[in-house]
Amino acid sequence: MDLPIIYHPDYVAPLPEGHRFPMPKFKLLYELLLGDSVAQPQQFYTPTRPPQELIELVHTCEYVNAYCQGTLDAKAQRRIGLPWSPELVNRTCVAVGGTILTAQLALVCGLACNTAGGTHHAFPSYGSGFCIFNDLAIASRVLQKIGLAQKILIVDLDVHQGDGTAFIFQDDDSVFTFSMHCEVNFPGTKQKSDLDVPLPVGMEDDEYLQTLASFLPDLLSNVKPDIVFYDAGVDPHIGDKLGKLALTDTGIFRREMQVLSTCVAAGYPVACVIGGGYADDMKSLVYRHSLVHRAASTVYQQYRL
Ligand SMILES: [Zn+2]
Repeated sequence: MDLPIIYHPDYVAPLPEGHRFPMPKFKLLYELLLGDSVAQPQQFYTPTRPPQELIELVHTCEYVNAYCQGTLDAKAQRRIGLPWSPELVNRTCVAVGGTILTAQLALVCGLACNTAGGTHHAFPSYGSGFCIFNDLAIASRVLQKIGLAQKILIVDLDVHQGDGTAFIFQDDDSVFTFSMHCEVNFPGTKQKSDLDVPLPVGMEDDEYLQTLASFLPDLLSNVKPDIVFYDAGVDPHIGDKLGKLALTDTGIFRREMQVLSTCVAAGYPVACVIGGGYADDMKSLVYRHSLVHRAASTVYQQYRL
């Protein structure tokens, strides 16, 4: 068997022409993985929309209903930053289903990668920064609810702090939140993760990877999670429009190898989501997102999962 990869054609929903959110990237990522033979068609799994009560393990019933029915007020809608449409509602729910499926497959296979996910700025009663429902939090609670995992570690290396996830689990010892992010970047008001590692503007590959290496192994042996969720945001890249760090493609690939080998070598299953990444050059952006799948395929074979 090969690395399971999760994708749904509905990961792409139409946005108005010229919208700054790079929506086409999900389909282009799927095509690149096949085109570059990183994956074969039979490695792909198609998620379904989760029932609303699973989304409500994290989000308030009022918020879920208002968002799904398109009755959020204009201010709440602006905070999300994506114009409402029924297609976007479906996309949002299918992507949450994708992360749930990724987590389930990671528990069976040791490693699995979504081709979307990482909507870490979503709070229980509101969305923010292109994030509507918090897939990492929902999938964590779903695994716990069905008894597949008790202790969970969320490793969030998106360049922005995982504020929604930190808030959701602030009083929950069963889910450990780790966020390594640029200190002077969105969100303006940071929440308190179980471990925050704020990084200075302009940090480059070696310093970044050394910093990560100084935290991750201890974190794993202290938390001893049943599963690790890895938000592999590529917005720490030097070419990212919203980033402010200075990682190269090589640096991102080394990061993915470091995270995945460290976890897998120690016997911890990892569910990967792609997180943020923003660039006008869609081809370069999609390549950056594919680095986690390339690294995961390598690790999957190396460790004969
Ligand atoms: Zn981000």
